[in-house]
Amino acid sequence: MIITIRSQADSTERSQLIALLGRIIDSNHPITTTKIAGREVIVIEHKSLEAQAAIEQQPAVERVMQVKTAYKLVSRAFQAENTSIIVGTEHNCTPVTVGGASVPPVIIAGPCAVENREQLLSTAQGVADAGAHILRGGAFKPRTSPYQFQGLGVEGLHLLAEARQLTGLPVITEVMEPELVGIVAEHADILQIGSRNMQNFPLLRAAGRDSHKRPVMLKRGLSATIDEWLLAAEYIVAAGNPNVILCERGIRSYDSQTRNVLDLSCVPLLHELTHLPVIVDPSHATGRRELVPTMSRASIAAGAEGLIIEVHPDPNSAMCDGRQSITPQQLQKIVRDARVMAEVMQEEDEITRVA
Ligand code: PEP
Ligand code: MN
Repeated sequence: MIITIRSQADSTERSQLIALLGRIIDSNHPITTTKIAGREVIVIEHKSLEAQAAIEQQPAVERVMQVKTAYKLVSRAFQAENTSIIVGTEHNCTPVTVGGASVPPVIIAGPCAVENREQLLSTAQGVADAGAHILRGGAFKPRTSPYQFQGLGVEGLHLLAEARQLTGLPVITEVMEPELVGIVAEHADILQIGSRNMQNFPLLRAAGRDSHKRPVMLKRGLSATIDEWLLAAEYIVAAGNPNVILCERGIRSYDSQTRNVLDLSCVPLLHELTHLPVIVDPSHATGRRELVPTMSRASIAAGAEGLIIEVHPDPNSAMCDGRQSITPQQLQKIVRDARVMAEVMQEEDEITRVA
């Protein structure tokens, strides 16, 4: 159940509530208070109506809500309206809204990995000129082999900050270790938690607790179910950071023609289950640059609030994921198409509402 605390509750009333909760639930289970949309909430696993009645009697309590799913705070049942997240409020860049009624859809683009200054700055300029809103670039790279390029690390973060200064675009980059959340959050405007780390629970908690409270883009695990993915998002929110963006990037299957299988049905499904924004990564989902334009349009048609696309000035010489990378010129058309597709869908929605 989700317990919302009255904003005027005093410390005695709060302690009284915590003491009651301590008696109701297993005492080994920590009781944590999370702030969401300006409201303090406590989530407990308990379901009994008797307990609910006792909690509702508490002067510190505004309301108690039973949510049937295992994930609570990210569920549509808890919050009916879409979460909209403002990205890039610091670092002198142009803020961008992700989710809510954001039209046009948000386009995130850039190289898989930050390779060097020239490659990053020229890609960043190309991405900005193409009309994208946020720059991506991996400084810490999760690579399948320990002998592959692992990213420039902190130097890559500094280059991303320089690219942001040049273009005004907020930047997103991956963080792989809880200990590095602080430094990555200092330089980046969005933290990316990659597929391989979707269930790295210490990392999820660290991203939730970090004092910068940077929005987190949580990619779907290589073979994660939707419930596992939403529970991973719940970890971040429960740790105190409500700004989570879900990113579908394809799931493992048996066919090697594409790198992964893009599960577009998850987009409308997630919109039923959660209030969090959903974006799609057609680059990692397909692994083939020729499929990226079509699957970008399809993602927007499925209702995605944005796209994240790998772009490189010379894809064939990219140090990482060149086969799925497109050029800034090719990105231009995708940005235009995404806008047109979203406008068509909005008009359709209006016509259906009026009819
Ligand atoms: C990436 O975005 O470059 C990346 C490594 O993605 P994923 O975690 O989806 O494989
Ligand atoms: Mn990549």
